[in-house]
Amino acid sequence: MSPPSTPPHKEEAALSTADDGRDAHERRAFTSSGDGLQSWSGRVALEAPDERPLLDRMAERVGSTTHLSDATKCFFVQALMCVAAGIYGLTAVALDGWPFFDESVLGSVRASAPWSMGVLAVWPALLVPTVRLVRVHDHEPRPVLTHLTAIYYAINISFFSYITGPFSAPSGFALLAGVVTGMLFFEGQVLALGLFFYGAGLALIAYLCHGGYLPFEPLYLASTAGRGLDADWLLRSTVATLALSLIVFPFLGMIVASWRYREQRLERAARTDALTGIYNRGYVMEVLDRAFARASAKRPLSVVMVDIDHFKRVNDDHGHLVGDEVLRRVARALQETLRRHDTLGRYGGEEFMLVLPGSGGAEARVAAERCRAAIATLDFGVPAARGGGSLRCTASFGVATVPPAYATVETFLDVADGALYQAKRGGRNSVVSDRDSQVAEGSAPDEQGTVG
Ligand code: GH3
Ligand code: MG
Ligand code: MG
Repeated sequence: MSPPSTPPHKEEAALSTADDGRDAHERRAFTSSGDGLQSWSGRVALEAPDERPLLDRMAERVGSTTHLSDATKCFFVQALMCVAAGIYGLTAVALDGWPFFDESVLGSVRASAPWSMGVLAVWPALLVPTVRLVRVHDHEPRPVLTHLTAIYYAINISFFSYITGPFSAPSGFALLAGVVTGMLFFEGQVLALGLFFYGAGLALIAYLCHGGYLPFEPLYLASTAGRGLDADWLLRSTVATLALSLIVFPFLGMIVASWRYREQRLERAARTDALTGIYNRGYVMEVLDRAFARASAKRPLSVVMVDIDHFKRVNDDHGHLVGDEVLRRVARALQETLRRHDTLGRYGGEEFMLVLPGSGGAEARVAAERCRAAIATLDFGVPAARGGGSLRCTASFGVATVPPAYATVETFLDVADGALYQAKRGGRNSVVSDRDSQVAEGSAPDEQGTVG
């Protein structure tokens, strides 16, 4: 175990050589398997090659749609629409010279192509800000982006319903794809807004075609020229389609809603620590991984390791049930003390981890100090059956902050752990940060420094 004063690039070497003389707190970081770093960070090496079908593996990488970020969901929709625009553009050009196409049909395609391409060209423009968000791993709710994507999709299908006719195969397919994707990806309100815009677009086009302001189905102008707009057929098709939609879509909606509900419950259970109700180690490590990837000189990140002092004595003196209650109350006190965008997780038995995005060394120290004081003032109380009386506990805190940059998240966490170790050695019930020891040694960390 390396103390926080160890230069970060030497951390891994220190990890592999440290062995004797570790106390229980240190040993936690190492596992009997000997692959310290991997097991320590909660990752398991997959020895057997993954032989599942490619589609299954791809689906796993994408993850469940319930925990994709808004930015990622919009990225999928917008990117697919860009691909669709490319295919449309290519076919419009490629089919142009084909001899078996009637010259009049080609004329219609040529006439509508600039409009169609103009409508589709907005997708790459929408994609640019979305890609920026995805690249910074944005996980914030993005209501403007999702609503804009849904509305613009609706405008697209209204437009193409006008070009090819509302009851053509492509129009039906695009509508169905939009509704199913909307149900899987977005809240009902976003889907409803999209459907509203689609309906309004169709109504406007119907009005303009009926009044003779616009040609009906201009792409198929040549084949419909003789027939013209058959209002009766359109009306009957609309009523039949609406009736079918009212049966099919609510049913589909119910299936998707029940799947989403189950998925969310499973996800919550997989993230939660059963005893304390806060995040478990796996999830808090995920949060730390993501925050670490985003941290920079301008966006500091602090991690705090917390360990309850002499907790074994609580169990030994008052029993495990009292110990469990202490863990629950400490978790609650930490949760109540942290800010909304900080993340708290149970790292191990009586150890907790705090991830503080945006907090530099000084802010993290203040936050840790506040948590320390909150725990120290709690009186857990011994139950009457166990003799009654008051019961107090303290905790020790180890803080590490980026910048300076660390080669890996494991190294970063190990620095926090080293600081915690020093807090224990210094008498417990205290906060030690990576800054402290380095400042003490006269080598304050370089705010811009990079390591590894
Ligand atoms: P230190 O100040 O050095 O951290 O000493 P400590 O006694 O807190 O540390 P040690 O690692 O020796 O003991 C941790 C104890 O935490 C041992 C274990 O039985 C207890 N523990 C771990 N998980 C739970 C739990 O879920 N419930 C209860 N009641 N006890 C737990
Ligand atoms: Mg411990
Ligand atoms: Mg302890």
